[in-house]
Amino acid sequence: MVLLHIGIDDTDSKRGMCTTYVGAVAIRRLEQQGFKLKGYPKLIRLNPNWKMKTRGNCAIAFTLSVKRDQIPLVKEIVLKTVADLAELHVETTNPGVVFYQGNKITEEMKAFSKKVVQDVVTIGEAEELARMVGAEIHKFKLGRGIVGALAAIGNTLEDDWTFELITYRTPENRGKPRKIDPASVEEMDRKTYPRTFDNLDPSTGEIRITPHTPCPILYGIRGETPQAVKKASVIVRSLEPIEQTIVYKTNQGTDAHLRKVKIAEARPNWSVIVEGVVCQPPRTIPGGHVIFRLKDETGEIDCAAYEPTRQFRDQVRKLIVGDRLRVFGGIKEKPELPLTVNLEKFEVMDLAPIFRRENPTCPRCGKRMKSEGKNKGYSCKLCKTRAPASAVRMVKVERDISVGRFEVPPRARRHLAKPLIRELAAEKRR
Ligand code: ATP
Repeated sequence: MVLLHIGIDDTDSKRGMCTTYVGAVAIRRLEQQGFKLKGYPKLIRLNPNWKMKTRGNCAIAFTLSVKRDQIPLVKEIVLKTVADLAELHVETTNPGVVFYQGNKITEEMKAFSKKVVQDVVTIGEAEELARMVGAEIHKFKLGRGIVGALAAIGNTLEDDWTFELITYRTPENRGKPRKIDPASVEEMDRKTYPRTFDNLDPSTGEIRITPHTPCPILYGIRGETPQAVKKASVIVRSLEPIEQTIVYKTNQGTDAHLRKVKIAEARPNWSVIVEGVVCQPPRTIPGGHVIFRLKDETGEIDCAAYEPTRQFRDQVRKLIVGDRLRVFGGIKEKPELPLTVNLEKFEVMDLAPIFRRENPTCPRCGKRMKSEGKNKGYSCKLCKTRAPASAVRMVKVERDISVGRFEVPPRARRHLAKPLIRELAAEKRR
């Protein structure tokens, strides 16, 4: 028996399909032929800033333990599934399938995968790596999908991972409004959060498990373990038939896209963690986006809370010059604009103090003194005692934001961004 790793990407278009569905169908067809998966299939989110993604920039991979003479049949089933389902008529859909045999995912494959999640690579780089490690690539049209397919195989999800249970709609319902009982989603959230997360948007009550695209997904439940997402899906009441269900192991909600950098090192297409001090206060620009500027010893960078982040912007608006922060977010490639961190969350590490000037109280009678004019000192109207200008009292004003962490609401969350509830749970375990 040998291990055969299979990666698939770039099968969908804005009008339909979804690579997770192509994976689910390929797996179903393989299982119908008696093949068994080794471990969970993987859903790997790639660089969220990548301009050529269709939607969530995901690729999938799975592993089979097969007899050597079965490999041609496996390849035939997978390639036929991609050919059957991929939106090949759409110019921007360029599927790629990768087959890799072997027990060992090499360090080069892991490094490539990390680069595809955190940076940008070329199709040529993917081809070169495939040649080096002996992976077999199949390109449909331009075959750009081999990048994601190889990255999904190379991602071994060793440090952190989550699960997503996805249900798919029957063909006649795709494109129509999704029908699930909202009360059952609320009940599911009540009973399973935080073992499942991002089911609802707490501020609006909006259901977050159903996508708003014409893809075949009915809903997806994200959680810490396969048990948690399966238990949750039993509670959700679907009012339309479900064609198929799959549980993927994923890098969603893990912050795998982020790298810690100094401001001068930040680059377009990266997602970064930067520590610095607010050097220009928040301002709201047309469209409702809130922008402030952060500096460290190497440079300055804009940080933005965009309109869809809604109430998160209220926290950002409370920042003042001098606040020390750690910010987390992606940098889009926009040559016409200064580099901007699109905030996913931030941590206030130190708050700059604000002082209010107050007239002194009279040392003789305790009455509040009156100012005699700018720099002319103070006098007591009752007992006529005088005090110099330096007697002014500086009173520290309570800030309306505290040291701590703040995040965008689930409706605006990037797939890869780690929700604070997951960070807190990990800290508790340590
Ligand atoms: P789907 O659900 O089909 O996967 P998507 O939003 O994930 O849709 P794709 O249609 O897969 O987007 O398009 C992204 C394309 O860009 C894929 O071909 C993928 O291989 C490639 N790609 C993804 N990330 C990178 C990257 N960091 N550098 C270079 N190419 C990338």
